Amino acid sequence: MTTQADAPIIVWFRQDLRLADNPALHHAAQTGRPVLPVYVLDDVTPGPWRAGGASRWWLHHSLTALAADLAARGSRLLLLRGPGDAVIRDLARQTGAAEVVWNRCYEPFAVERDSRLKAALSDDGINARSFNGSLLKEPWEVMTGAGTAFKVFTPYWRACLAAMNPAPALPAPARLAPLAAAPAGDALADWALLPTKPDWAGGMRAFWRADGIGEAAAMARLERFLSGPAAQYKQDRDMPGLDGTSRLSPHLHFGEISPRQIWHRAKARAATLSDAATIQIDGFLREIGWREFCYSLLYNFPTLPERPLNPAFEAFPWADDPALLAAWQRGRTGYPIVDAGLRQLWATGWMHNRVRMIVGSLLVKHLLLPWQAGQDWFWDTLVDADLANNAAGWQWIGGCGADAAPYFRVFNPVLQGQKFDAEGHYVRHWVPELKQLPAKYIHAPWEAPTMVLRDAGIVLGHHYPRPVIDHAMGRQRALDAFQAIKGGAGPTAD
Ligand code: FAD
Repeated sequence: MTTQADAPIIVWFRQDLRLADNPALHHAAQTGRPVLPVYVLDDVTPGPWRAGGASRWWLHHSLTALAADLAARGSRLLLLRGPGDAVIRDLARQTGAAEVVWNRCYEPFAVERDSRLKAALSDDGINARSFNGSLLKEPWEVMTGAGTAFKVFTPYWRACLAAMNPAPALPAPARLAPLAAAPAGDALADWALLPTKPDWAGGMRAFWRADGIGEAAAMARLERFLSGPAAQYKQDRDMPGLDGTSRLSPHLHFGEISPRQIWHRAKARAATLSDAATIQIDGFLREIGWREFCYSLLYNFPTLPERPLNPAFEAFPWADDPALLAAWQRGRTGYPIVDAGLRQLWATGWMHNRVRMIVGSLLVKHLLLPWQAGQDWFWDTLVDADLANNAAGWQWIGGCGADAAPYFRVFNPVLQGQKFDAEGHYVRHWVPELKQLPAKYIHAPWEAPTMVLRDAGIVLGHHYPRPVIDHAMGRQRALDAFQAIKGGAGPTAD
């Protein structure tokens, strides 16, 4: 029988797979009680939003890293499986826990689950506490003057910055007192998180490397970024052929690093640089601000992943064309920048932000396929799949969300390619069948003279598809469909 004095404190890890700047873990370590760290694989509570294939791959490696970091501090990560609230309640009862602590998640199903658990633990006489470990500002903290949630980014971020005063990041506990009689739990391998599709994980492994995942790797990536590309961030961040962004998104999603750590490290770095470089770093922090904004949207508008924020779009006449969707998913649309992005995604579990916008626009505008279909594909294939960022990103692309690009702003995939990948380096890397095409035609191979195609070894329709839709025709069709639901707003050129 556990006595009151040595009753353990359970730390429920979720999207905070790190030891430093982890408020729940920090609190637990301060109590001096035995600490029982647990991760629960919960495929039940999220319903359709259970982790996708690429996320599960990342999770496997991230848990491996976390378990090793905990072991180095004398602790052991317990792995359990099932509905999170029921599993944690059972564990708390079984171990006679004095307290259960966690860092908050903001997905609607997680918010409901955690309130259920708090109530259940209170019925059992067990204390429960949650902390903010994932955001600079809680989604209820930054509101308009009228007390409503912001729907537009710029004033949201201005309000955040005005109130921004993050506390210093917390250190990792030096040692954690283990619980002598902790349950055995599952073995990570039994969860089969790694993909069984033979070639799929190979590309992700090569791109990220298993030792590139976890808390230490996340911090090393941040430092590399801050000491190099950050000084050029605003110029380079739109160029998919450059390594100009941080690629911290999966680390942030799984909480291997906190936005607060990023904020302080970035500000410290900026203090050593010129004013011009400081502006670049503030540009990077503004993107961290977009993440905050997406979380505010998801928390305050919980139907964000399913329903358009702008209700007029409920009536939008989306197409249903599985063959076209498959061509898009596999990077066989005939638009090189689009195909490069979708192949990068399939090969690495990540896609450059500019290209996410271009491929998204082609799907929802030219092909008239629903934004939810793109969101689902991203959900399964992105290592950084994140309910808030993904849903907000797709609603933005679909023109139906908060702060959305107007629906009638239709990206021209050829011009986008020419502007952001002028020499075609990105396309050549991901669409190697076009490798020999001169830059002049790399974004529109169908415009190349027969001789040029022949010299490059390309037969269109054989080695590489012709465009699945003509840009001008697709654009007009999208505008017509938009007029049908909107009745009036006029197009703009892009
Ligand atoms: P950096 O440019 O280095 O930015 C730093 C961090 O800021 C990112 O890691 C990310 O956490 C945050 N950030 C940057 N841009 C955005 C943005 N537009 N919205 C929200 N947060 C942002 N991001 C995800 O993390 N998960 C998703 O599932 C996701 N789905 C998206 C879907 C669409 C259709 C679009 C257009 C964007 C999506 N994004 C998503 C946002 C963005 O594309 C990625 O966060 C970014 O490309 C990650 O690369 P990075 O870490 O190098 O970014």
